[in-house]
Amino acid sequence: MTNKRETKATVLVKHHLKQLRLPTMASECDSLAEQAARDNQDHLAYLLKLTERELIERERKSAERRLKAARFPAHKTLDQFDFSAQPTVNKPLVAQLAAGDYLGSRENILLVGPSGTGKSHLAISLAINACSQGKRVRFWRVTELITCLLEAKEERQLLRIRNQLAKLDLLVLDELGYVPASKAGAELLFDVIATAYERNSIIVTTNLPFENWPEVLGNQRLTGAALDRLTHRCHIIETKGESYRLKDAKRRSGKAQKAKKKTA
Ligand code: ADP
Ligand code: MG
Repeated sequence: MTNKRETKATVLVKHHLKQLRLPTMASECDSLAEQAARDNQDHLAYLLKLTERELIERERKSAERRLKAARFPAHKTLDQFDFSAQPTVNKPLVAQLAAGDYLGSRENILLVGPSGTGKSHLAISLAINACSQGKRVRFWRVTELITCLLEAKEERQLLRIRNQLAKLDLLVLDELGYVPASKAGAELLFDVIATAYERNSIIVTTNLPFENWPEVLGNQRLTGAALDRLTHRCHIIETKGESYRLKDAKRRSGKAQKAKKKTA
């Protein structure tokens, strides 16, 4: 429904604002003008409020876009991480990394530990924080990245994907080492790591102790060089113990059994 008091001037202002690509200012200029009149605000105070709304909405939209582009497999935050279940994880270090300074100095993060101990959870949480700090992030399961690189190579599209990766501030490589890579795949992966080493930060999660890396990357020299680059300027977080899922399942079934006994 059009506002009865919509004059030729307001129609034109809205049109101009849209032309100038200021859609939030266009949609809110009416209601904020009424509010400014009620509150006896002067023109500049009104303009300030209107431009602020545009900026806030713009930032919200681009944060949403960055989060979508990162392709996280799940939304995991640090608030949801139970540090008491992982007492060996250095909580102050995680808090410091969450602030994102490592990204400015292109440092890497290596999360090492057995399956189900929260490596991916921590990696995603830190990467989500990076997104909200305005960084461009992409999450890859290593096997998916290798498949994608091998396909791109076949189609002579490697340059395109390399250019995409080069634009990132943070690359998350999840599950390095679950599946041994082929020689060609390992070489392509190594190339991504080497390139990223000079330009951006990498977060790697792995269940592999360092000494087993050659088995996976298949080549002592290649592995040595990859490890060397990854661990230079690197924060290492070690997760330990039993799988959180398993523990959680045991705790739940324990509770259920107790409840059964009570009702019996
Ligand atoms: P990993 O990558 O080490 O195999 P995940 O991060 O995928 O393990 O964790 C498995 C599941 O358990 C996920 O749903 C994760 O959110 C949850 N989880 C693991 N550790 C914790 C923790 N300390 N607090 C809360 N949830 C956890
Ligand atoms: Mg994982």
